[in-house]
Amino acid sequence: MTIQKTLKNAARRAINTPAFTHFLSLLERRQGEQADLLRVLTYHRVENLARTAGVYPRIMVTPRDFEQQMRYVAAAYNVIGMPDLLRFYVDGEPLPPRSLLITFDDAYVDFAENAWPILRRLGLPATLFVPTAFPDHPERVFWWDRLYHALAQADSDQAVSSPLGRFSLKTPAQREQAFSHLRDHVKTLPHAEAMQWVEQVCQSLGTPPPPAAVLGWDALRRLVREGVTLGAHTRNHPLMTRVAPDAMRQEALDSLHDLERETGAALPIFAYPSGGANAEVVQVLRQAGFVLAFLTGHGINDLKTADRLQLRRINVGHNTSLPVLRLQMHTWTSA
Ligand SMILES: [Zn+2]
Repeated sequence: MTIQKTLKNAARRAINTPAFTHFLSLLERRQGEQADLLRVLTYHRVENLARTAGVYPRIMVTPRDFEQQMRYVAAAYNVIGMPDLLRFYVDGEPLPPRSLLITFDDAYVDFAENAWPILRRLGLPATLFVPTAFPDHPERVFWWDRLYHALAQADSDQAVSSPLGRFSLKTPAQREQAFSHLRDHVKTLPHAEAMQWVEQVCQSLGTPPPPAAVLGWDALRRLVREGVTLGAHTRNHPLMTRVAPDAMRQEALDSLHDLERETGAALPIFAYPSGGANAEVVQVLRQAGFVLAFLTGHGINDLKTADRLQLRRINVGHNTSLPVLRLQMHTWTSA
């Protein structure tokens, strides 16, 4: 084990002790009302890992942990809905102190199965960002899920070649390492080329794609009727920094129009796929008429100064225990 890994594990153990939780409580009490700060949580999947062999695990939170986190935020923050934030920016309506917004990216089926029942029971509003080419197209699978699944299911005598070198897949650790390298490589390529490359790698490993995991339109319409806000997340989930300016605009607006067509209405809100944004992308969104857009970059937003098209979020994944989340929601851990 490397020194960094040892230190990381030691830090994680320390954070998850009762003494650290007590320390956090003291800090939180000192934070006061914080009228101008907005925290936005990002989730992807709420599912038990045990139910999902070969599925990309890092974006997954168990239903038990999710419920614990939601009970905490319901008690410690004022959970607002996306319409509240729009009214703040458009009409100048004030937000309560300690405002917090709950968002989910990618519209995975487990949102409806596991997350929404918990949110509903606790009376918490949520926003789901939908890549709109995926609902009702079970053959379309997110590239990271396809790649992770292919590497996890490949025979152990197989290897995978890439411009970064050749990766053996003998052990689970080697498969994880291969996935991390290949994922980083994919993000450097133009979107269309990246998707072709992932397809080639997966085909060379000869493993079938994972089962479909995105909600269909009927399920999305039912969620809207029950109070969920949907938001645009492009159609095909490209990194917006890896497509031409025309395609950026098209992906964003098509996604909005798909939501309008399928659900009757759509708010001018957007989440950048995988957080891919730069000044040009933000400008395209501004010109296209979007009012709010969300990054994946970590941070707490100061409503007096934040760019409403570059709102930062706090990502919650499988390593985020409640003390880690509470720590991340602290101002001094913010970017
Ligand atoms: Zn996404």
